[in-house]
Amino acid sequence: MKVAIAHLLDLQSIDNKLHQIELAKGNLPEKVKKAESELETARAVLSKCESNLSELQKELRQIESEIAKLNEDKKKYDEQLYAVTTNKEYDAVTLEIENAINKIDELENRQLTLFDAEKDAGEALQEAKEMLAKLEKSFQETSVKLNKTIEANAEKEKALTAQRQETAAKIRPEFLRLYERIRKPKDGLPLVTVERGACGGCYTNIPPQRIMEIREADRLIVCEHCGRILFWQEEKELTIN
Ligand SMILES: [Zn+2]
Repeated sequence: MKVAIAHLLDLQSIDNKLHQIELAKGNLPEKVKKAESELETARAVLSKCESNLSELQKELRQIESEIAKLNEDKKKYDEQLYAVTTNKEYDAVTLEIENAINKIDELENRQLTLFDAEKDAGEALQEAKEMLAKLEKSFQETSVKLNKTIEANAEKEKALTAQRQETAAKIRPEFLRLYERIRKPKDGLPLVTVERGACGGCYTNIPPQRIMEIREADRLIVCEHCGRILFWQEEKELTIN
Protein backbone atom coordinates (compact mmCIF):
# COMPACT_ATOMS: atom_id res chain seq x y z
CA MET A 1 0.00 0.00 0.00
CA LYS A 2 2.89 2.34 0.65
CA VAL A 3 3.88 1.88 -2.97
CA ALA A 4 0.33 2.65 -4.10
CA ILE A 5 0.37 5.84 -2.06
CA ALA A 6 3.75 6.77 -3.52
CA HIS A 7 2.35 6.36 -7.05
CA LEU A 8 -0.74 8.38 -6.16
CA LEU A 9 1.52 11.09 -4.77
CA ASP A 10 3.52 11.08 -8.00
CA LEU A 11 0.29 11.44 -9.91
CA GLN A 12 -0.80 14.32 -7.71
CA SER A 13 2.50 16.08 -8.27
CA ILE A 14 2.25 15.62 -12.06
CA ASP A 15 -1.35 16.81 -12.08
CA ASN A 16 -0.45 19.90 -10.13
CA LYS A 17 2.30 20.72 -12.60
CA LEU A 18 -0.15 20.26 -15.47
CA HIS A 19 -2.56 22.50 -13.63
CA GLN A 20 0.12 25.19 -13.35
CA ILE A 21 0.55 25.05 -17.12
CA GLU A 22 -3.19 25.48 -17.51
CA LEU A 23 -3.08 28.44 -15.12
CA ALA A 24 -0.29 30.05 -17.14
CA LYS A 25 -2.77 30.42 -19.98
CA GLY A 26 -4.78 32.64 -17.61
CA ASN A 27 -7.99 33.93 -19.09
CA LEU A 28 -6.52 33.87 -22.59
CA PRO A 29 -8.62 30.91 -23.81
CA GLU A 30 -11.83 32.71 -22.74
CA LYS A 31 -10.56 35.95 -24.25
CA VAL A 32 -9.89 34.24 -27.57
CA LYS A 33 -13.34 32.69 -27.50
CA LYS A 34 -14.99 36.03 -26.71
CA ALA A 35 -12.99 37.79 -29.44
CA GLU A 36 -14.06 35.10 -31.88
CA SER A 37 -17.75 35.58 -31.15
CA GLU A 38 -17.38 39.38 -31.34
CA LEU A 39 -15.75 38.95 -34.73
CA GLU A 40 -18.64 36.86 -35.92
CA THR A 41 -21.13 39.52 -34.84
CA ALA A 42 -19.07 42.28 -36.47
CA ARG A 43 -18.94 40.33 -39.74
CA ALA A 44 -22.71 39.91 -39.69
CA VAL A 45 -23.17 43.65 -39.04
CA LEU A 46 -20.82 44.49 -41.89
CA SER A 47 -22.62 42.26 -44.34
CA LYS A 48 -25.97 43.78 -43.25
CA CYS A 49 -24.55 47.28 -43.87
CA GLU A 50 -23.27 46.24 -47.29
CA SER A 51 -26.58 44.80 -48.43
CA ASN A 52 -28.43 47.81 -47.02
CA LEU A 53 -26.25 50.20 -49.01
CA SER A 54 -26.50 48.17 -52.18
CA GLU A 55 -30.31 48.03 -51.89
CA LEU A 56 -30.44 51.82 -51.61
CA GLN A 57 -28.10 52.25 -54.56
CA LYS A 58 -30.17 49.88 -56.61
CA GLU A 59 -33.34 51.85 -55.92
CA LEU A 60 -31.53 55.11 -56.70
CA ARG A 61 -30.42 53.79 -60.08
CA GLN A 62 -33.95 52.68 -60.81
CA ILE A 63 -35.39 56.10 -59.93
CA GLU A 64 -32.76 57.81 -62.03
CA SER A 65 -33.74 55.85 -65.10
CA GLU A 66 -37.44 56.39 -64.40
CA ILE A 67 -36.90 60.13 -64.18
CA ALA A 68 -34.91 60.09 -67.42
CA LYS A 69 -37.71 58.22 -69.14
CA LEU A 70 -40.36 60.61 -67.79
CA ASN A 71 -38.32 63.59 -69.00
CA GLU A 72 -38.17 62.09 -72.44
CA ASP A 73 -41.93 61.49 -72.41
CA LYS A 74 -42.49 65.06 -71.28
CA LYS A 75 -40.29 66.34 -74.10
CA LYS A 76 -42.37 64.39 -76.61
CA TYR A 77 -45.60 65.78 -75.16
CA ASP A 78 -44.15 69.30 -75.27
CA GLU A 79 -43.52 68.81 -78.98
CA GLN A 80 -46.97 67.33 -79.51
CA LEU A 81 -48.48 70.41 -77.91
CA TYR A 82 -47.37 72.47 -80.93
CA ALA A 83 -49.07 70.09 -83.30
CA VAL A 84 -52.52 69.80 -81.67
CA THR A 85 -55.46 71.04 -83.64
CA THR A 86 -58.37 70.73 -81.20
CA ASN A 87 -58.99 71.86 -77.66
CA LYS A 88 -59.70 68.30 -76.66
CA GLU A 89 -56.31 67.19 -77.95
CA TYR A 90 -54.68 70.17 -76.22
CA ASP A 91 -56.27 69.23 -72.89
CA ALA A 92 -55.25 65.60 -73.24
CA VAL A 93 -51.59 66.42 -73.98
CA THR A 94 -51.49 69.04 -71.22
CA LEU A 95 -52.77 66.44 -68.78
CA GLU A 96 -50.02 64.04 -69.84
CA ILE A 97 -47.43 66.77 -69.28
CA GLU A 98 -48.81 67.55 -65.83
CA ASN A 99 -48.83 63.89 -64.94
CA ALA A 100 -45.22 63.52 -66.00
CA ILE A 101 -44.20 66.63 -64.01
CA ASN A 102 -45.99 65.34 -60.89
CA LYS A 103 -44.42 61.92 -61.22
CA ILE A 104 -40.96 63.44 -61.67
CA ASP A 105 -41.53 65.61 -58.58
CA GLU A 106 -42.56 62.60 -56.56
CA LEU A 107 -39.54 60.61 -57.70
CA GLU A 108 -37.16 63.48 -57.01
CA ASN A 109 -38.47 63.73 -53.46
CA ARG A 110 -37.94 60.04 -52.98
CA GLN A 111 -34.47 60.49 -54.48
CA LEU A 112 -33.58 63.11 -51.86
CA THR A 113 -34.69 60.82 -49.05
CA LEU A 114 -32.63 58.01 -50.55
CA PHE A 115 -29.57 60.23 -50.90
CA ASP A 116 -29.72 60.90 -47.15
CA ALA A 117 -30.22 57.23 -46.41
CA GLU A 118 -27.33 56.35 -48.73
CA LYS A 119 -25.05 58.77 -46.89
CA ASP A 120 -26.04 57.27 -43.51
CA ALA A 121 -25.63 53.74 -44.82
CA GLY A 122 -22.19 54.60 -46.20
CA GLU A 123 -21.14 55.95 -42.82
CA ALA A 124 -22.51 52.91 -41.03
CA LEU A 125 -20.61 50.67 -43.42
CA GLN A 126 -17.40 52.56 -42.78
CA GLU A 127 -17.92 52.25 -39.03
CA ALA A 128 -18.62 48.54 -39.35
CA LYS A 129 -15.41 48.10 -41.37
CA GLU A 130 -13.38 49.95 -38.76
CA MET A 131 -14.94 47.94 -35.95
CA LEU A 132 -14.21 44.69 -37.76
CA ALA A 133 -10.60 45.70 -38.37
CA LYS A 134 -10.20 46.63 -34.71
CA LEU A 135 -11.69 43.33 -33.53
CA GLU A 136 -9.59 41.34 -36.00
CA LYS A 137 -6.47 42.99 -34.63
CA SER A 138 -7.42 42.27 -31.04
CA PHE A 139 -8.34 38.67 -31.88
CA GLN A 140 -5.01 38.27 -33.63
CA GLU A 141 -3.09 39.63 -30.67
CA THR A 142 -4.91 37.47 -28.13
CA SER A 143 -4.49 34.35 -30.25
CA VAL A 144 -0.78 35.00 -30.66
CA LYS A 145 -0.40 35.44 -26.91
CA LEU A 146 -2.29 32.22 -26.20
CA ASN A 147 -0.32 30.30 -28.81
CA LYS A 148 2.95 31.57 -27.38
CA THR A 149 1.93 30.39 -23.91
CA ILE A 150 0.90 27.03 -25.29
CA GLU A 151 4.11 26.70 -27.28
CA ALA A 152 6.27 27.74 -24.36
CA ASN A 153 4.90 24.86 -22.30
CA ALA A 154 4.25 22.38 -25.08
CA GLU A 155 7.35 20.25 -24.45
CA LYS A 156 6.80 20.27 -20.73
CA GLU A 157 3.12 19.46 -21.10
CA LYS A 158 3.86 16.61 -23.47
CA ALA A 159 6.45 15.12 -21.12
CA LEU A 160 4.14 15.47 -18.13
CA THR A 161 1.23 13.90 -20.00
CA ALA A 162 3.39 10.91 -20.91
CA GLN A 163 4.64 10.69 -17.35
CA ARG A 164 1.08 10.84 -16.10
CA GLN A 165 0.02 7.95 -18.32
CA GLU A 166 2.94 5.89 -17.14
CA THR A 167 2.24 6.59 -13.48
CA ALA A 168 -1.51 6.06 -13.81
CA ALA A 169 -0.86 2.67 -15.38
CA LYS A 170 0.82 1.55 -12.16
CA ILE A 171 -2.19 2.40 -10.02
CA ARG A 172 -5.10 0.08 -9.38
CA PRO A 173 -8.21 1.22 -11.31
CA GLU A 174 -10.35 1.58 -8.17
CA PHE A 175 -7.70 3.77 -6.53
CA LEU A 176 -7.42 5.80 -9.69
CA ARG A 177 -11.15 6.29 -9.79
CA LEU A 178 -11.16 7.39 -6.17
CA TYR A 179 -8.30 9.79 -6.85
CA GLU A 180 -10.04 11.29 -9.90
CA ARG A 181 -13.27 11.67 -7.98
CA ILE A 182 -11.62 13.65 -5.18
CA ARG A 183 -9.19 15.65 -7.31
CA LYS A 184 -11.50 18.22 -8.87
CA PRO A 185 -13.61 19.25 -5.92
CA LYS A 186 -10.54 19.26 -3.65
CA ASP A 187 -8.45 21.83 -5.53
CA GLY A 188 -6.00 19.33 -6.94
CA LEU A 189 -5.04 17.86 -3.58
CA PRO A 190 -6.72 14.48 -3.29
CA LEU A 191 -3.93 13.24 -1.01
CA VAL A 192 -3.06 15.04 2.18
CA THR A 193 -0.83 14.33 5.15
CA VAL A 194 -1.83 14.09 8.74
CA GLU A 195 -0.85 17.35 10.42
CA ARG A 196 -0.80 17.52 14.21
CA GLY A 197 -3.38 14.78 14.47
CA ALA A 198 -5.72 16.32 11.93
CA CYS A 199 -6.52 15.94 8.25
CA GLY A 200 -4.17 18.20 6.30
CA GLY A 201 -7.00 19.14 3.98
CA CYS A 202 -9.93 20.04 6.21
CA TYR A 203 -8.22 20.06 9.63
CA THR A 204 -10.72 17.70 11.18
CA ASN A 205 -9.17 15.77 14.05
CA ILE A 206 -8.42 12.13 13.42
CA PRO A 207 -8.76 9.55 16.22
CA PRO A 208 -5.38 8.08 17.33
CA GLN A 209 -6.44 4.59 16.23
CA ARG A 210 -7.04 5.93 12.72
CA ILE A 211 -3.66 7.66 12.72
CA MET A 212 -2.02 4.35 13.58
CA GLU A 213 -3.75 2.76 10.59
CA ILE A 214 -2.64 5.60 8.34
CA ARG A 215 0.94 5.14 9.51
CA GLU A 216 0.80 1.44 8.89
CA ALA A 217 -0.71 2.08 5.48
CA ASP A 218 -2.09 -1.41 5.02
CA ARG A 219 -5.05 0.06 3.20
CA LEU A 220 -6.13 3.33 1.69
CA ILE A 221 -7.74 5.56 4.31
CA VAL A 222 -9.82 8.58 3.46
CA CYS A 223 -10.78 11.48 5.71
CA GLU A 224 -14.28 10.89 7.01
CA HIS A 225 -15.03 14.57 6.77
CA CYS A 226 -13.64 15.72 3.41
CA GLY A 227 -13.00 12.43 1.63
CA ARG A 228 -9.33 13.09 0.82
CA ILE A 229 -6.86 10.21 0.90
CA LEU A 230 -4.71 10.47 4.02
CA PHE A 231 -1.07 9.47 4.16
CA TRP A 232 1.63 9.64 6.74
CA GLN A 233 4.77 11.68 6.44
CA GLU A 234 7.20 12.40 9.24
CA GLU A 235 6.93 16.05 10.27
CA LYS A 236 10.55 16.83 9.38
CA GLU A 237 10.17 15.71 5.79
CA LEU A 238 6.84 17.41 5.24
CA THR A 239 6.62 18.75 1.75
CA ILE A 240 3.39 19.17 -0.03
CA ASN A 241 3.31 19.43 -3.75
ZN1 LIG B 1 -10.32 16.01 5.66
